[in-house]
Amino acid sequence: MSKITRVWSREILDSRAMPTVETVLQLDNGVTTVASVPSGASTGKNEALELRDGDQARYLGKGVLKAVDNVNNKIGPAIVGIDPSNQADMDKKLIELDGSNNKSNLGANAILSVSIANCKAGAIANNLPVYKWVYQLSTAQGAATEGIPTRVPTPIYNMINGGAHGAGNLDFQEFQIIPASSKPYSLALKTGAEVYQHLKNSLIKIGAIHSVGDEGGYAPNLFNNADALGINVEAINSAGFQIGQDFFLGLDVAASHFYKDGSYSIKDRSNSLNSGSLTSFFEDLSKEYRLILLEDPLQEEDWSGWTEVTSKLGDHMMIVGDDLIVTNPERVKKAAQSKACNTALIKPNQIGTVSETLEVIKLARQFGWKIIVSHRSGETNDFFIADFAVGVKSDFVKFGAPARGERVAKYNRLLSIETELSANK
Ligand code: PEP
Ligand code: MG
Repeated sequence: MSKITRVWSREILDSRAMPTVETVLQLDNGVTTVASVPSGASTGKNEALELRDGDQARYLGKGVLKAVDNVNNKIGPAIVGIDPSNQADMDKKLIELDGSNNKSNLGANAILSVSIANCKAGAIANNLPVYKWVYQLSTAQGAATEGIPTRVPTPIYNMINGGAHGAGNLDFQEFQIIPASSKPYSLALKTGAEVYQHLKNSLIKIGAIHSVGDEGGYAPNLFNNADALGINVEAINSAGFQIGQDFFLGLDVAASHFYKDGSYSIKDRSNSLNSGSLTSFFEDLSKEYRLILLEDPLQEEDWSGWTEVTSKLGDHMMIVGDDLIVTNPERVKKAAQSKACNTALIKPNQIGTVSETLEVIKLARQFGWKIIVSHRSGETNDFFIADFAVGVKSDFVKFGAPARGERVAKYNRLLSIETELSANK
């Protein structure tokens, strides 16, 4: 048995020059684990609370010294002596210490940093790589499907960044390319990176800006959102690949971003749209571009609109709930009851602990949904979610473009896991 002997935390920077929480756990054998937490820009209204200081004299009010202090002085003393192998007990303790229903007392950022550092410590205590340890935890919790992980999830690359992550020109947030799931991960990474390079050339050719947005994808000024889909197709073709065979297209619409006073305004239409006419627009796009994935097509409280989208498009597309379900069991249940989506986007910091995230995956699986484990737009080089995604055997991962350090930290970790998995075969 292993024991936690020390816990400490500090304020570090994320990929957007915003502060975030990094926590270190020390075990009785002297070994330490480190975990840092990401942060969203297009956050759902119903996410667990990310505690920010609000002191305008520091980081425009975004400092996290209160969260750091909560780890150092409230959480740390309460968890010293605990065996990190008991992830469920640890997370229960963290939830009790906080006492609120949305982690608003201690902060989901403070709590998640400890929960993840504990999960890494559990792996060390059990002599396993983190992905194998996560598999054991998810099996114990009934969240895993049968059989040890044998493959790396299929990556979803965010090639063009719009919405809250781009330059303010495109309404939709992510223009994604998805390699065929039959490809080995290493090939999916290589070909994805090749398309990324060709996309840059395609943008240069039409005189569009080719600097990058928050998730490493390009953030060009284009005429409208459909043009961004078109240029992804062009890049796929010029790299020597085919749509519908080698790559597929997806969109994270993040519709709450351009929804106001009951209607949606997008560059592709001169008049504003209601949820029905926006859905018809997606039907047209899905036919023209053979989209296979649509995330947050409508704003996060339009339950009946979501049901309509899923009934019209859900038979051949993944309709992905992000802001809609916010990795929250109650919202997942409501979405299942109303058949509002068929795929769960899983972001551990939307709920705040590893065990609760596993619980949501378990539920989503019970409803027959697909699972996508996702980063946030503000990231660090912590690659825990790569291991986590393999351990829970998610169908897909979404870690941004195959570019920029904080994104490739995760994609590269998947490469080394793939090597390990094939050596074990
Ligand atoms: C998303 O919306 O899926 C996303 C990753 O962005 P953010 O982290 O800004 O919510
Ligand atoms: Mg999203």
